[in-house]
Amino acid sequence: MAVGAYTRPTRLPDALAALRDGPCTVLAGGTDHFPARVTSTPDEAILDITALPELRGIRRLSDGGLTIGACATWSAVIAADLPSACDGLKAAAREVGGVQIQNRGTVGGNLCNASPAADGVPPLLSLDAEVELTSLDGVRRLPLDGFVLGNRRTTRRPDELLTAIRIPPAALDGTGRFLKLGARRYLVISIVMVAGTLVRAADDTIASARLAVGACSAAALRLRELEAALVGRPLAEAAATVTAQHLAGLAPIDDVRADGEYRCEAAAVLVRRCLADLAAA
Ligand SMILES: Cc1cc2nc3c(=O)[nH]c(=O)nc-3n(C[C@H](O)[C@H](O)[C@H](O)COP(=O)(O)OP(=O)(O)OC[C@H]3O[C@@H](n4cnc5c(N)ncnc54)[C@H](O)[C@@H]3O)c2cc1C
Repeated sequence: MAVGAYTRPTRLPDALAALRDGPCTVLAGGTDHFPARVTSTPDEAILDITALPELRGIRRLSDGGLTIGACATWSAVIAADLPSACDGLKAAAREVGGVQIQNRGTVGGNLCNASPAADGVPPLLSLDAEVELTSLDGVRRLPLDGFVLGNRRTTRRPDELLTAIRIPPAALDGTGRFLKLGARRYLVISIVMVAGTLVRAADDTIASARLAVGACSAAALRLRELEAALVGRPLAEAAATVTAQHLAGLAPIDDVRADGEYRCEAAAVLVRRCLADLAAA
């Protein structure tokens, strides 16, 4: 695409051809895109993907999994009829800005922007989400934790669009939670957020658990050692299972919102609270 050009295709192949044609910036809801450009006069070529029907919608797949179109808005996530494993994702959706932002901002935009404080990443990690990347060469799928590499860094190639997010059937069992700490209750960038899903066994022990912490490392992190330690433990002991070692992988920065030490302490509190809440559900 030519410098400064704007196109809004209505067919996916046309969008992919535009991406192959030359460098251009993908625009979805624009709620990360525009605020990042308030002090500059942008002259980049823009590919607006909001008229592509293939990128909308949230639906169950024939294998029992779930697909979320990359351009599904946070409001669409809130309104969707989803299993309780997705309660954490829904709670995160309600925390993304205010209603106006939730009406415009998309799940795909949140992931592709790859902010360490992106509220969508931990709940989707706790649902074992995969991303679907499409180019003229075809479709490739990879785990979300292999997609978001760090602050504003993903493995998306310039000729690829994120077309969907998939949640496998096995990850839709159990219950989900999302807890966010900010400097105030609403309309706030996360200092720490924690998402978890937990499946209980018939004897009130933990059959499986998945936990992820955001805003405490360049990319949100799964707590896989803690997840392994939780399996088979009584539900009542879920929160008490957490040790400092389980959170040793966190590497938070100091910034205007909080220092790293505070973030680590807050993360430990939120992980325990999340587990206690899941165990009581
Ligand atoms: C006032 C305000 C409050 C906010 N509060 C929160 C909050 O509480 N929590 C939070 O997590 N975020 C928050 N945000 C950030 C933002 O709203 C979300 O990250 C939102 O989900 C971004 O989606 P979008 O569609 O607007 O992305 P866009 O701004 O359109 O795009 C974001 C980036 O992703 C790329 N991109 C978008 N879609 C695709 C795709 N399908 N394929 C390839 N690349 C793509 C774009 O090129 C761009 O680099 C806030 C923003 C504002 C302005």
